[in-house]
Amino acid sequence: MVSRVIPVDPFDLIIFGATGDLARRKILPALYRRFCDGQMPGESRVIGAARTEMDTASWRDAVAEAITEFLPAKQCDADSIAAFRDRLHYVPVDALGDDGWADLKTLVRPGVIQAYYFSVAPSLFGALAERLQAFEVCCDTARFVVEKPFGRDLETARDLNRTLATYFHEDQIYRIDHYLGKETVQNLMAIRFGNTLFEPLWNTQYIDHVQITVAETVGVGGRGSYYDRAGAMRDMVQNHLMQLLCLTAMEPPSRFEPAAVRDEKLKVIRALDPVDPGDIVRGQYQAGETPGYIEDVENPDSRTESYIALKLHVANWRWNGTPFYLRTGKRLKARRSEIVVHFKETPHSIFDADAGSRANVLSIRLQPDEGIDLRVTIKEPGPGGMRLIDVPLDMSFAEALGPEAADAPDAYERLIMDVIRGNQTLFMRGDEVEAAWAWTDPIIAGWTDRRDTPLPYETGSSGPEDALMLMHRDGRRWREIAPS
Ligand code: NAP
Repeated sequence: MVSRVIPVDPFDLIIFGATGDLARRKILPALYRRFCDGQMPGESRVIGAARTEMDTASWRDAVAEAITEFLPAKQCDADSIAAFRDRLHYVPVDALGDDGWADLKTLVRPGVIQAYYFSVAPSLFGALAERLQAFEVCCDTARFVVEKPFGRDLETARDLNRTLATYFHEDQIYRIDHYLGKETVQNLMAIRFGNTLFEPLWNTQYIDHVQITVAETVGVGGRGSYYDRAGAMRDMVQNHLMQLLCLTAMEPPSRFEPAAVRDEKLKVIRALDPVDPGDIVRGQYQAGETPGYIEDVENPDSRTESYIALKLHVANWRWNGTPFYLRTGKRLKARRSEIVVHFKETPHSIFDADAGSRANVLSIRLQPDEGIDLRVTIKEPGPGGMRLIDVPLDMSFAEALGPEAADAPDAYERLIMDVIRGNQTLFMRGDEVEAAWAWTDPIIAGWTDRRDTPLPYETGSSGPEDALMLMHRDGRRWREIAPS
Protein backbone atom coordinates (compact mmCIF):
# COMPACT_ATOMS: atom_id res chain seq x y z
CA MET A 1 0.00 0.00 0.00
CA VAL A 2 1.47 3.35 -0.99
CA SER A 3 0.53 6.37 1.13
CA ARG A 4 -0.84 9.25 -0.89
CA VAL A 5 0.84 12.63 -0.43
CA ILE A 6 -1.66 15.42 -1.01
CA PRO A 7 0.03 18.44 -2.62
CA VAL A 8 0.06 21.76 -0.78
CA ASP A 9 0.78 25.28 -2.02
CA PRO A 10 4.13 26.97 -1.29
CA PHE A 11 4.36 28.43 2.22
CA ASP A 12 6.51 30.20 4.77
CA LEU A 13 6.21 28.74 8.27
CA ILE A 14 7.51 31.02 10.98
CA ILE A 15 8.24 29.33 14.32
CA PHE A 16 8.38 31.57 17.37
CA GLY A 17 10.21 29.58 20.04
CA ALA A 18 12.49 28.02 17.40
CA THR A 19 15.18 27.22 19.97
CA GLY A 20 12.76 25.55 22.40
CA ASP A 21 12.13 21.94 23.33
CA LEU A 22 8.91 21.51 21.32
CA ALA A 23 10.41 22.98 18.15
CA ARG A 24 13.48 20.72 18.40
CA ARG A 25 11.66 17.52 19.37
CA LYS A 26 8.49 17.72 17.33
CA ILE A 27 7.93 20.64 14.96
CA LEU A 28 11.24 20.65 13.06
CA PRO A 29 11.57 16.86 12.67
CA ALA A 30 7.94 16.87 11.47
CA LEU A 31 8.71 19.52 8.86
CA TYR A 32 11.79 17.63 7.70
CA ARG A 33 9.66 14.50 7.17
CA ARG A 34 7.12 16.49 5.13
CA PHE A 35 10.00 17.97 3.13
CA CYS A 36 11.26 14.45 2.35
CA ASP A 37 7.75 13.51 1.18
CA GLY A 38 7.66 16.46 -1.21
CA GLN A 39 5.28 18.59 0.84
CA MET A 40 7.42 21.74 0.90
CA PRO A 41 6.84 22.75 -2.72
CA GLY A 42 8.45 25.62 -4.58
CA GLU A 43 10.68 27.54 -2.29
CA SER A 44 8.64 26.86 0.87
CA ARG A 45 10.66 27.89 3.89
CA VAL A 46 10.85 27.57 7.65
CA ILE A 47 11.85 30.71 9.51
CA GLY A 48 12.96 30.29 13.10
CA ALA A 49 12.60 33.14 15.59
CA ALA A 50 13.59 33.43 19.23
CA ARG A 51 15.60 35.80 21.44
CA THR A 52 18.85 33.81 21.24
CA GLU A 53 21.36 35.67 19.10
CA MET A 54 22.64 33.39 16.34
CA ASP A 55 22.91 33.35 12.58
CA THR A 56 21.08 31.16 10.10
CA ALA A 57 24.08 28.83 9.66
CA SER A 58 24.17 28.04 13.41
CA TRP A 59 20.43 27.39 13.52
CA ARG A 60 20.70 25.10 10.51
CA ASP A 61 23.35 23.12 12.43
CA ALA A 62 21.09 22.96 15.49
CA VAL A 63 18.11 21.77 13.41
CA ALA A 64 20.18 19.09 11.64
CA GLU A 65 21.30 17.87 15.08
CA ALA A 66 17.69 17.80 16.34
CA ILE A 67 16.58 15.77 13.30
CA THR A 68 19.20 13.10 13.87
CA GLU A 69 18.51 13.09 17.61
CA PHE A 70 14.74 12.75 17.41
CA LEU A 71 14.09 10.71 14.27
CA PRO A 72 15.07 7.09 13.66
CA ALA A 73 18.36 6.72 11.78
CA LYS A 74 16.63 5.24 8.71
CA GLN A 75 14.73 8.51 8.21
CA CYS A 76 17.87 10.67 8.43
CA ASP A 77 19.37 10.80 4.99
CA ALA A 78 22.41 13.12 4.76
CA ASP A 79 21.47 14.49 1.30
CA SER A 80 17.89 15.19 2.37
CA ILE A 81 19.04 16.94 5.54
CA ALA A 82 21.46 19.06 3.48
CA ALA A 83 18.65 20.02 1.09
CA PHE A 84 16.27 20.76 3.99
CA ARG A 85 18.88 23.02 5.62
CA ASP A 86 18.68 25.34 2.61
CA ARG A 87 15.01 25.96 3.42
CA LEU A 88 15.81 27.17 6.96
CA HIS A 89 16.35 30.78 8.04
CA TYR A 90 16.74 32.28 11.47
CA VAL A 91 16.11 35.74 12.84
CA PRO A 92 16.62 36.86 16.48
CA VAL A 93 13.37 38.42 17.70
CA ASP A 94 12.14 39.35 21.16
CA ALA A 95 8.37 39.09 21.52
CA LEU A 96 8.54 41.83 24.15
CA GLY A 97 10.89 44.19 22.32
CA ASP A 98 11.09 45.96 18.99
CA ASP A 99 14.36 44.50 17.71
CA GLY A 100 14.38 41.98 14.91
CA TRP A 101 10.86 42.59 13.60
CA ALA A 102 11.96 44.61 10.58
CA ASP A 103 14.38 41.78 9.67
CA LEU A 104 11.58 39.25 10.01
CA LYS A 105 9.36 41.33 7.73
CA THR A 106 12.01 41.28 4.97
CA LEU A 107 12.25 37.49 5.22
CA VAL A 108 8.55 36.62 5.07
CA ARG A 109 7.20 36.58 1.53
CA PRO A 110 3.81 38.21 0.96
CA GLY A 111 2.71 36.05 -1.99
CA VAL A 112 2.75 32.62 -0.29
CA ILE A 113 0.77 30.99 2.50
CA GLN A 114 2.00 32.35 5.83
CA ALA A 115 1.71 30.26 8.98
CA TYR A 116 3.01 31.49 12.34
CA TYR A 117 3.58 28.83 14.99
CA PHE A 118 3.49 30.30 18.53
CA SER A 119 5.63 27.66 20.28
CA VAL A 120 6.19 29.93 23.28
CA ALA A 121 4.52 30.49 26.65
CA PRO A 122 0.88 31.63 26.19
CA SER A 123 1.72 34.84 28.09
CA LEU A 124 3.63 35.91 24.93
CA PHE A 125 0.77 35.31 22.46
CA GLY A 126 -0.61 38.85 22.82
CA ALA A 127 2.80 40.53 22.47
CA LEU A 128 3.60 38.46 19.37
CA ALA A 129 0.24 39.18 17.75
CA GLU A 130 0.53 42.90 18.47
CA ARG A 131 4.03 43.19 16.98
CA LEU A 132 3.23 41.05 13.96
CA GLN A 133 0.56 43.60 13.09
CA ALA A 134 2.38 46.74 14.25
CA PHE A 135 5.40 45.88 12.10
CA GLU A 136 3.11 44.75 9.26
CA VAL A 137 4.82 41.36 9.06
CA CYS A 138 1.80 39.13 8.47
CA CYS A 139 -0.75 39.24 5.67
CA ASP A 140 -4.54 39.20 6.19
CA THR A 141 -4.83 35.53 5.36
CA ALA A 142 -1.99 34.36 7.65
CA ARG A 143 -2.65 31.42 9.99
CA PHE A 144 -1.62 31.24 13.63
CA VAL A 145 -0.96 28.02 15.49
CA VAL A 146 -1.13 28.19 19.29
CA GLU A 147 0.09 25.49 21.65
CA LYS A 148 -1.47 24.18 24.82
CA PRO A 149 -2.04 24.98 27.62
CA PHE A 150 -4.86 27.20 26.40
CA GLY A 151 -5.54 28.89 29.75
CA ARG A 152 -5.65 27.33 33.19
CA ASP A 153 -9.36 28.01 33.76
CA LEU A 154 -12.34 29.57 32.02
CA GLU A 155 -11.29 33.12 32.83
CA THR A 156 -7.73 32.81 31.50
CA ALA A 157 -8.95 30.93 28.40
CA ARG A 158 -11.46 33.72 27.73
CA ASP A 159 -8.69 36.30 28.14
CA LEU A 160 -6.51 34.44 25.64
CA ASN A 161 -9.40 34.12 23.19
CA ARG A 162 -10.15 37.84 23.55
CA THR A 163 -6.48 38.73 23.03
CA LEU A 164 -6.22 36.63 19.88
CA ALA A 165 -9.57 37.95 18.63
CA THR A 166 -8.24 41.51 18.91
CA TYR A 167 -5.75 40.75 16.15
CA PHE A 168 -7.04 37.75 14.19
CA HIS A 169 -10.27 36.16 12.96
CA GLU A 170 -11.28 32.82 14.47
CA ASP A 171 -10.74 31.15 11.10
CA GLN A 172 -7.06 32.14 11.26
CA ILE A 173 -6.48 30.52 14.68
CA TYR A 174 -5.36 26.89 15.01
CA ARG A 175 -5.45 25.69 18.65
CA ILE A 176 -3.44 22.52 18.53
CA ASP A 177 -4.22 19.33 20.45
CA HIS A 178 -1.81 16.78 19.02
CA TYR A 179 -4.12 13.90 20.07
CA LEU A 180 -6.46 14.97 17.29
CA GLY A 181 -3.70 14.45 14.73
CA LYS A 182 -3.22 10.79 15.63
CA GLU A 183 -4.12 8.35 12.90
CA THR A 184 -6.38 6.28 15.13
CA VAL A 185 -8.27 9.27 16.47
CA GLN A 186 -9.24 10.13 12.93
CA ASN A 187 -9.97 6.49 12.35
CA LEU A 188 -12.49 6.69 15.15
CA MET A 189 -14.53 8.96 12.89
CA ALA A 190 -13.93 6.69 9.89
CA ILE A 191 -15.05 3.65 11.90
CA ARG A 192 -18.15 5.39 13.23
CA PHE A 193 -19.26 7.26 10.15
CA GLY A 194 -17.78 5.19 7.31
CA ASN A 195 -19.42 1.86 8.24
CA THR A 196 -23.05 0.93 8.57
CA LEU A 197 -22.07 -1.69 11.13
CA PHE A 198 -21.43 0.43 14.21
CA GLU A 199 -23.49 3.60 14.06
CA PRO A 200 -26.93 1.94 14.53
CA LEU A 201 -25.59 0.34 17.71
CA TRP A 202 -23.77 3.44 18.95
CA ASN A 203 -26.16 4.45 21.72
CA THR A 204 -27.38 3.62 25.19
CA GLN A 205 -29.59 0.80 23.95
CA TYR A 206 -26.58 -1.27 22.90
CA ILE A 207 -23.59 0.23 24.69
CA ASP A 208 -23.19 -0.54 28.38
CA HIS A 209 -20.32 1.87 29.04
CA VAL A 210 -17.21 3.42 27.51
CA GLN A 211 -13.70 3.54 29.01
CA ILE A 212 -11.13 6.10 27.88
CA THR A 213 -7.60 5.56 29.19
CA VAL A 214 -4.40 7.52 28.66
CA ALA A 215 -1.77 5.79 30.80
CA GLU A 216 1.87 6.87 30.88
CA THR A 217 4.91 5.22 32.44
CA VAL A 218 6.87 8.47 32.63
CA GLY A 219 6.69 10.86 35.58
CA VAL A 220 6.49 14.64 35.32
CA GLY A 221 10.10 14.77 34.06
CA GLY A 222 11.55 18.24 33.66
CA ARG A 223 8.09 19.87 33.63
CA GLY A 224 7.71 19.70 37.43
CA SER A 225 7.01 23.34 38.18
CA TYR A 226 4.47 23.66 35.33
CA TYR A 227 2.83 20.33 36.11
CA ASP A 228 2.46 21.00 39.82
CA ARG A 229 0.36 24.08 39.01
CA ALA A 230 -1.70 22.12 36.47
CA GLY A 231 -2.20 18.48 37.49
CA ALA A 232 -3.75 15.69 35.44
CA MET A 233 -7.14 17.40 35.23
CA ARG A 234 -5.82 20.52 33.51
CA ASP A 235 -2.93 18.85 31.67
CA MET A 236 -4.80 15.86 30.22
CA VAL A 237 -8.53 15.64 30.98
CA GLN A 238 -9.65 19.15 30.01
CA ASN A 239 -8.08 18.81 26.58
CA HIS A 240 -6.92 15.38 25.32
CA LEU A 241 -9.42 13.11 27.09
CA MET A 242 -12.22 15.59 26.48
CA GLN A 243 -11.46 15.56 22.76
CA LEU A 244 -11.48 11.75 22.69
CA LEU A 245 -14.78 11.76 24.56
CA CYS A 246 -16.26 14.22 22.06
CA LEU A 247 -15.28 12.16 19.04
CA THR A 248 -16.69 9.03 20.67
CA ALA A 249 -19.97 10.58 21.80
CA MET A 250 -20.80 13.17 19.14
CA GLU A 251 -23.68 12.98 16.69
CA PRO A 252 -22.77 12.42 13.02
CA PRO A 253 -21.80 15.78 11.53
CA SER A 254 -23.50 16.59 8.22
CA ARG A 255 -20.09 16.73 6.53
CA PHE A 256 -16.48 16.10 7.50
CA GLU A 257 -15.65 19.78 7.56
CA PRO A 258 -14.53 22.14 10.33
CA ALA A 259 -17.74 23.90 11.35
CA ALA A 260 -19.90 20.76 11.26
CA VAL A 261 -17.45 18.61 13.26
CA ARG A 262 -16.70 21.30 15.81
CA ASP A 263 -20.41 22.12 16.32
CA GLU A 264 -21.08 18.47 17.19
CA LYS A 265 -18.11 18.26 19.58
CA LEU A 266 -19.26 21.41 21.34
CA LYS A 267 -22.74 19.91 21.87
CA VAL A 268 -21.17 16.94 23.69
CA ILE A 269 -19.21 19.15 26.09
CA ARG A 270 -22.28 21.27 26.77
CA ALA A 271 -24.32 18.13 27.49
CA LEU A 272 -21.98 16.93 30.24
CA ASP A 273 -23.58 16.68 33.66
CA PRO A 274 -21.61 18.14 36.57
CA VAL A 275 -19.55 15.34 38.13
CA ASP A 276 -20.42 14.10 41.61
CA PRO A 277 -17.29 14.39 43.86
CA GLY A 278 -17.85 10.73 44.77
CA ASP A 279 -17.33 9.83 41.11
CA ILE A 280 -13.76 11.16 40.98
CA VAL A 281 -10.57 9.56 42.29
CA ARG A 282 -7.35 11.57 42.40
CA GLY A 283 -3.94 10.02 42.97
CA GLN A 284 -0.29 10.93 43.37
CA TYR A 285 2.56 8.50 42.65
CA GLN A 286 4.80 7.47 45.50
CA ALA A 287 8.54 6.95 45.57
CA GLY A 288 9.63 3.43 44.60
CA GLU A 289 12.64 2.62 42.51
CA THR A 290 12.22 6.10 41.08
CA PRO A 291 11.47 9.32 43.01
CA GLY A 292 7.86 10.03 43.95
CA TYR A 293 5.73 12.89 42.68
CA ILE A 294 6.59 15.30 45.49
CA GLU A 295 10.31 14.73 44.92
CA ASP A 296 9.85 15.23 41.16
CA VAL A 297 8.08 18.55 41.61
CA GLU A 298 10.20 19.48 44.67
CA ASN A 299 7.10 20.40 46.65
CA PRO A 300 6.57 18.26 49.77
CA ASP A 301 3.15 19.88 50.41
CA SER A 302 1.81 19.34 46.91
CA ARG A 303 -1.86 18.35 46.64
CA THR A 304 -1.73 18.13 42.86
CA GLU A 305 -2.95 14.92 41.19
CA SER A 306 -0.74 12.92 38.81
CA TYR A 307 -3.65 10.47 38.30
CA ILE A 308 -7.35 10.94 37.84
CA ALA A 309 -10.26 8.59 37.22
CA LEU A 310 -13.81 9.79 36.87
CA LYS A 311 -17.24 8.76 35.77
CA LEU A 312 -19.30 11.13 33.71
CA HIS A 313 -22.65 11.30 31.98
CA VAL A 314 -23.50 12.84 28.65
CA ALA A 315 -27.04 14.06 29.25
CA ASN A 316 -28.75 13.56 25.91
CA TRP A 317 -31.04 11.02 24.22
CA ARG A 318 -28.23 8.98 22.74
CA TRP A 319 -26.28 8.46 25.96
CA ASN A 320 -28.72 8.68 28.86
CA GLY A 321 -27.83 5.67 31.04
CA THR A 322 -24.42 4.92 29.48
CA PRO A 323 -21.58 6.12 31.74
CA PHE A 324 -18.20 7.17 30.36
CA TYR A 325 -15.23 6.32 32.59
CA LEU A 326 -12.09 8.36 31.98
CA ARG A 327 -8.66 7.83 33.55
CA THR A 328 -5.18 9.11 33.01
CA GLY A 329 -2.01 9.03 35.05
CA LYS A 330 1.74 9.08 35.20
CA ARG A 331 4.14 6.37 36.36
CA LEU A 332 1.58 3.66 35.65
CA LYS A 333 2.15 0.03 34.73
CA ALA A 334 2.31 0.54 30.97
CA ARG A 335 2.06 3.22 28.31
CA ARG A 336 -1.32 2.71 26.79
CA SER A 337 -3.99 4.98 25.32
CA GLU A 338 -7.26 3.52 24.19
CA ILE A 339 -10.99 3.97 23.89
CA VAL A 340 -12.89 0.82 24.84
CA VAL A 341 -16.58 0.50 24.01
CA HIS A 342 -18.35 -2.24 26.00
CA PHE A 343 -21.54 -3.38 24.34
CA LYS A 344 -24.42 -4.85 26.34
CA GLU A 345 -24.97 -8.57 26.58
CA THR A 346 -27.57 -10.14 24.30
CA PRO A 347 -31.09 -9.52 25.69
CA HIS A 348 -31.76 -13.24 26.00
CA SER A 349 -29.37 -16.18 25.92
CA ILE A 350 -30.50 -19.25 23.99
CA PHE A 351 -27.59 -21.22 25.44
CA ASP A 352 -27.40 -23.10 28.74
CA ALA A 353 -26.41 -21.01 31.74
CA ASP A 354 -23.05 -22.79 31.97
CA ALA A 355 -22.24 -21.90 28.33
CA GLY A 356 -21.27 -18.48 29.63
CA SER A 357 -22.48 -15.17 28.33
CA ARG A 358 -20.38 -12.55 26.76
CA ALA A 359 -20.57 -9.01 25.50
CA ASN A 360 -18.80 -7.53 22.50
CA VAL A 361 -15.98 -5.09 23.18
CA LEU A 362 -14.56 -2.69 20.61
CA SER A 363 -11.13 -1.24 21.46
CA ILE A 364 -9.56 1.59 19.57
CA ARG A 365 -5.83 1.68 20.41
CA LEU A 366 -4.14 5.04 20.11
CA GLN A 367 -0.72 4.01 21.38
CA PRO A 368 1.37 1.99 21.23
CA ASP A 369 0.57 -0.21 18.21
CA GLU A 370 -2.31 1.81 16.77
CA GLY A 371 -5.18 -0.39 15.71
CA ILE A 372 -8.66 -1.68 16.50
CA ASP A 373 -9.81 -4.88 18.09
CA LEU A 374 -13.36 -6.23 18.25
CA ARG A 375 -14.03 -9.11 20.61
CA VAL A 376 -16.75 -11.42 19.37
CA THR A 377 -18.28 -14.53 20.89
CA ILE A 378 -17.93 -17.90 19.16
CA LYS A 379 -18.31 -21.53 20.10
CA GLU A 380 -15.32 -23.03 21.82
CA PRO A 381 -13.90 -25.48 19.28
CA GLY A 382 -14.11 -29.21 20.04
CA PRO A 383 -16.64 -31.83 20.99
CA GLY A 384 -17.36 -30.43 24.49
CA GLY A 385 -20.87 -29.13 23.70
CA MET A 386 -21.87 -25.51 23.28
CA ARG A 387 -19.47 -23.45 25.32
CA LEU A 388 -18.86 -19.83 24.35
CA ILE A 389 -15.54 -18.01 24.21
CA ASP A 390 -14.37 -14.53 23.18
CA VAL A 391 -11.97 -14.17 20.30
CA PRO A 392 -10.42 -11.00 18.97
CA LEU A 393 -10.89 -9.69 15.47
CA ASP A 394 -7.69 -7.73 15.79
CA MET A 395 -6.31 -5.29 13.29
CA SER A 396 -2.97 -3.69 13.92
CA PHE A 397 -2.68 -0.87 11.36
CA ALA A 398 1.02 -1.62 10.93
CA GLU A 399 0.23 -5.26 10.03
CA ALA A 400 -2.89 -4.66 7.98
CA LEU A 401 -1.73 -1.66 5.99
CA GLY A 402 1.90 -2.65 5.45
CA PRO A 403 5.16 -0.93 6.33
CA GLU A 404 3.93 2.47 5.07
CA ALA A 405 1.43 2.53 7.96
CA ALA A 406 4.28 2.34 10.45
CA ASP A 407 5.89 5.22 8.57
CA ALA A 408 2.67 7.26 8.41
CA PRO A 409 2.97 10.95 9.26
CA ASP A 410 2.92 11.58 13.00
CA ALA A 411 0.38 13.90 14.60
CA TYR A 412 2.47 17.08 14.23
CA GLU A 413 3.19 16.39 10.56
CA ARG A 414 -0.48 15.92 9.78
CA LEU A 415 -1.62 18.93 11.80
CA ILE A 416 0.99 21.31 10.38
CA MET A 417 -0.02 20.29 6.85
CA ASP A 418 -3.67 20.89 7.77
CA VAL A 419 -2.68 24.43 8.79
CA ILE A 420 -1.02 24.96 5.42
CA ARG A 421 -4.16 23.62 3.69
CA GLY A 422 -6.32 25.89 5.85
CA ASN A 423 -8.31 22.98 7.30
CA GLN A 424 -9.37 23.58 10.93
CA THR A 425 -11.33 20.34 11.43
CA LEU A 426 -8.77 18.82 13.80
CA PHE A 427 -8.17 22.01 15.80
CA MET A 428 -10.15 23.28 18.75
CA ARG A 429 -12.43 26.25 18.31
CA GLY A 430 -12.45 28.99 20.99
CA ASP A 431 -15.95 28.14 22.24
CA GLU A 432 -15.03 24.44 22.58
CA VAL A 433 -12.07 25.27 24.79
CA GLU A 434 -14.18 27.60 26.93
CA ALA A 435 -16.94 25.00 27.30
CA ALA A 436 -14.40 22.41 28.44
CA TRP A 437 -13.07 24.82 31.09
CA ALA A 438 -16.61 25.70 32.17
CA TRP A 439 -17.12 21.98 32.94
CA THR A 440 -13.68 21.55 34.56
CA ASP A 441 -13.57 24.67 36.76
CA PRO A 442 -16.23 23.65 39.35
CA ILE A 443 -14.54 20.27 39.82
CA ILE A 444 -11.17 21.87 40.57
CA ALA A 445 -12.80 24.54 42.75
CA GLY A 446 -14.45 21.76 44.78
CA TRP A 447 -11.06 20.17 45.50
CA THR A 448 -9.67 23.51 46.64
CA ASP A 449 -12.69 24.19 48.90
CA ARG A 450 -12.51 20.73 50.48
CA ARG A 451 -8.68 20.78 50.66
CA ASP A 452 -8.87 17.46 48.85
CA THR A 453 -5.70 15.37 49.05
CA PRO A 454 -4.82 12.89 46.29
CA LEU A 455 -4.53 9.22 47.23
CA PRO A 456 -1.08 7.61 47.05
CA TYR A 457 -0.43 4.95 44.42
CA GLU A 458 2.58 2.81 43.74
CA THR A 459 4.80 3.53 40.79
CA GLY A 460 4.22 0.86 38.16
CA SER A 461 0.68 0.11 39.38
CA SER A 462 -2.72 0.76 37.77
CA GLY A 463 -3.40 3.73 40.05
CA PRO A 464 -5.10 4.03 43.46
CA GLU A 465 -7.28 1.13 44.70
CA ASP A 466 -10.25 3.50 44.95
CA ALA A 467 -10.16 3.91 41.18
CA LEU A 468 -10.89 0.19 40.84
CA MET A 469 -13.84 0.64 43.19
CA LEU A 470 -15.23 3.42 41.00
CA MET A 471 -16.13 0.69 38.51
CA HIS A 472 -16.55 -2.30 40.86
CA ARG A 473 -19.40 -0.62 42.67
CA ASP A 474 -21.20 -0.34 39.30
CA GLY A 475 -20.54 -4.04 38.62
CA ARG A 476 -17.90 -3.21 35.99
CA ARG A 477 -14.13 -3.52 35.63
CA TRP A 478 -11.40 -1.37 34.13
CA ARG A 479 -9.51 -2.91 31.26
CA GLU A 480 -6.09 -4.03 32.43
CA ILE A 481 -3.40 -1.43 31.71
CA ALA A 482 -1.10 -3.89 30.01
CA PRO A 483 1.57 -3.46 27.38
CA SER A 484 0.28 -4.61 23.99
P1 NAP B 1 10.84 26.02 25.96
O1 NAP B 1 11.76 24.88 25.70
O2 NAP B 1 10.95 26.77 27.26
O3 NAP B 1 11.05 27.07 24.76
C1 NAP B 1 10.50 28.36 24.79
C2 NAP B 1 10.89 29.09 23.52
O4 NAP B 1 10.39 30.42 23.60
C3 NAP B 1 12.38 29.19 23.31
O5 NAP B 1 12.68 29.04 21.95
C4 NAP B 1 12.68 30.61 23.74
O6 NAP B 1 13.83 31.03 23.08
C5 NAP B 1 11.42 31.33 23.26
N1 NAP B 1 11.17 32.58 23.97
C6 NAP B 1 11.06 32.78 25.30
N2 NAP B 1 10.83 34.07 25.56
C7 NAP B 1 10.78 34.70 24.36
C8 NAP B 1 10.58 36.04 23.97
N3 NAP B 1 10.39 37.04 24.86
N4 NAP B 1 10.60 36.34 22.66
C9 NAP B 1 10.80 35.39 21.73
N5 NAP B 1 11.01 34.09 22.03
C10 NAP B 1 10.99 33.76 23.34
O7 NAP B 1 9.33 25.62 25.82
P2 NAP B 1 8.72 24.42 24.93
O8 NAP B 1 8.75 23.18 25.74
O9 NAP B 1 9.36 24.43 23.60
O10 NAP B 1 7.20 24.86 24.84
C11 NAP B 1 6.74 25.91 24.00
C12 NAP B 1 5.22 26.00 24.14
O11 NAP B 1 4.65 24.76 23.74
C13 NAP B 1 4.74 26.22 25.58
O12 NAP B 1 3.56 26.98 25.57
C14 NAP B 1 4.42 24.81 26.06
O13 NAP B 1 3.45 24.81 27.08
C15 NAP B 1 3.87 24.20 24.79
N6 NAP B 1 3.99 22.73 24.75
C16 NAP B 1 5.20 22.14 24.86
C17 NAP B 1 5.28 20.75 24.78
C18 NAP B 1 6.61 20.03 24.85
O14 NAP B 1 6.59 18.79 24.73
N7 NAP B 1 7.72 20.72 25.03
C19 NAP B 1 4.12 19.98 24.61
C20 NAP B 1 2.89 20.63 24.49
C21 NAP B 1 2.85 22.01 24.56
P3 NAP B 1 14.84 32.14 23.59
O15 NAP B 1 15.15 31.86 25.02
O16 NAP B 1 15.99 32.00 22.65
O17 NAP B 1 14.11 33.41 23.39
